[in-house]
Amino acid sequence: MNRLTRFGLTFQTLPDQLGEAAPHMRDAYLTPEDLDLLVESDGEKVLKRILLHHLSVCPACHAVGGFLLDALAAGEIGEDLNGFSIDIYRSRLHAPALWKEFEASGTQQWKMVVANDDRFSSWGLAELLCQRSVELATDEPAAALATAELAVDVGMRVYEWDPDGWVQLLRGLVWAHLGYARQRFGDFSGALQALSKADEIWGPAIANYGDVLGYEARFLALSHATMTHDSANRSSDGPMPPLVCFPAETDG
Ligand SMILES: [Zn+2]
Repeated sequence: MNRLTRFGLTFQTLPDQLGEAAPHMRDAYLTPEDLDLLVESDGEKVLKRILLHHLSVCPACHAVGGFLLDALAAGEIGEDLNGFSIDIYRSRLHAPALWKEFEASGTQQWKMVVANDDRFSSWGLAELLCQRSVELATDEPAAALATAELAVDVGMRVYEWDPDGWVQLLRGLVWAHLGYARQRFGDFSGALQALSKADEIWGPAIANYGDVLGYEARFLALSHATMTHDSANRSSDGPMPPLVCFPAETDG
């Protein structure tokens, strides 16, 4: 299965949006130097730029790959078209639609849904659930807890994408969110257990890879909030550092 069909989803961008994202690609025509490079050593780099240019001028190809221009315009990927960045972008793009499917069913069904449908083993969905659980923590701690539990279920099922091992950062992060949600729910010993699990996964991963996914500020804030709170001072958290920027929802 290739990257673009990995999620079993098709992606359509409306034709009237053609060329609006990354408009400079419309004029990124083949140059004589490109032609030399294409037939010599740097062919791959030139090919990728020509792909982006083509997507910005051809409606039929744009319907399949136009999301790459959106990702480029959003700064989520570079012109090198790194496959991992594209995978993450796509999974963030589709996460809101997957979350809607959960919202339609009761929390008691959530575990079964995740276990029986690979579409939900989604990196972006795990991040989105983390974000939701933090947003719910103050006013709806029970819902926040159910959402954080689901984030762990999803995050632990996300398979090892390239580069190997970065998924451990995601897994540490989902456990840290569960710790925080348990703490807010009043389950203090459960919170510390989840935090301990989070540290166990996170520690080696952050030492190996560094903060490649930009999760560290969030992880540290969650750890701090979980460790330092008791039932008497629950409302003294500052704002949580942002997790990730999710692409705008589309009709696709
Ligand atoms: Zn075309």
